[in-house]
Amino acid sequence: HHHIDNATPEKVQAAIAANHTHADIPDYQDMAAYQADGGYATLKQLRETGNWEEVQETVLSSGLRGLGGAGFPSGRKWGFVRANEGPRYLAVNGDEGEPGTFKDRYYLERTPHLFLEGMLIAAWAVEAEKAFIYMRDEYPAVLEILRREIAELETAGIVEPGYIDLRRGAGAYICGEESAMIESIEGKRGIPRHRPPFVAQVGIFGAPTLVHNVETLYWVAKICREGPEVMNSVEKNGRKGLRSYSVSGRVKNPGVHLLPAGSTIDDLIAACGGMADGHVFKAYQPGGPSSGLLPASMNDIPLDFDTLQPHGTFIGSAAVVVLSEADSAREAALNMLRFFEDESCGQCTPCRVGCEKAVKLMQADRWDQSLLEELCTTMGDASICGLGQAAPNPIRLTMKHFADEV
Ligand code: SF4
Repeated sequence: HHHIDNATPEKVQAAIAANHTHADIPDYQDMAAYQADGGYATLKQLRETGNWEEVQETVLSSGLRGLGGAGFPSGRKWGFVRANEGPRYLAVNGDEGEPGTFKDRYYLERTPHLFLEGMLIAAWAVEAEKAFIYMRDEYPAVLEILRREIAELETAGIVEPGYIDLRRGAGAYICGEESAMIESIEGKRGIPRHRPPFVAQVGIFGAPTLVHNVETLYWVAKICREGPEVMNSVEKNGRKGLRSYSVSGRVKNPGVHLLPAGSTIDDLIAACGGMADGHVFKAYQPGGPSSGLLPASMNDIPLDFDTLQPHGTFIGSAAVVVLSEADSAREAALNMLRFFEDESCGQCTPCRVGCEKAVKLMQADRWDQSLLEELCTTMGDASICGLGQAAPNPIRLTMKHFADEV
């Protein structure tokens, strides 16, 4: 934002132009480089002679699950969407609003065409009339890359002009929730819908809609090109596959780390070169603020779908934040609830009022734990969407594992 003194039309124009100057575009694999590497041959072959059920079988056998956070088996969604009469749509969830998650950005700024080819394969599989990409507006470089490369796809005749509709989000966390995203794509205020019906049945403008996360589609392309082994041949701690962990916080080298799905927090910290100098590992957020905090003593859990449920939390989009002895678990939990209070869409009372009440209760010197627990139960039982349902996690886990702080 540019502060303008004594604004003149020229100064205003200059400020607008400066705001429109994009962030540095990183070196990425462009259309020519991707095609030279065999890119889009898989899509071409599938469009000519492919059988969608065979591709679905390949994707299912790879074990690929939705990497936006829900972890639903990716191939199964295709069947649900196809079970409904067309026209059908595809929507890509590129909102990546979960604090601590930056893996989609990582892939889009490096190999955008793997994602785009995966998207077009999924669109082909469900015979989508149109593909919408709902992209986080806070990623100007990604948006610029996508604009350029979608134009290249149109020029090359791989997609009809306008087939891919690139939409910009406007910074609302709730628009990462798939039905709120669909409302937003339709031009309405982004608030989650009640289910059923599911978006696979009634999605964008009432049409059956396939919704995938960016990284999921990146893997669809890889799996179709290289076979299901690219995902399912890796095994660790009884878990199969790979996960892109976004790791930040008190580690030496924060970043995206592609590691076996059975990796523990110790493995992740090691992949980041250890703790930052002078910091002692105290706690970690395993999968976004909705996952709350676990203590350093719980360092032997494979960080994957399903493995964290017994501990009252989940991996989500694998947004891992490492805290040290310099941090307060109580303050971190309060920060998470403040975030939910800000981002609650406000349509249901348990979440809208519950988040606000929780923040008030968590500011007290001593937490009223039985009242907080009652509030958590109400929010978890009666909220419409995942935001309000999972908001109690940081409260409960902090009371359980960091009792001396509350
Ligand atoms: Fe909106 Fe919260 Fe209700 Fe979700 S739980 S619909 S974010 S008020």
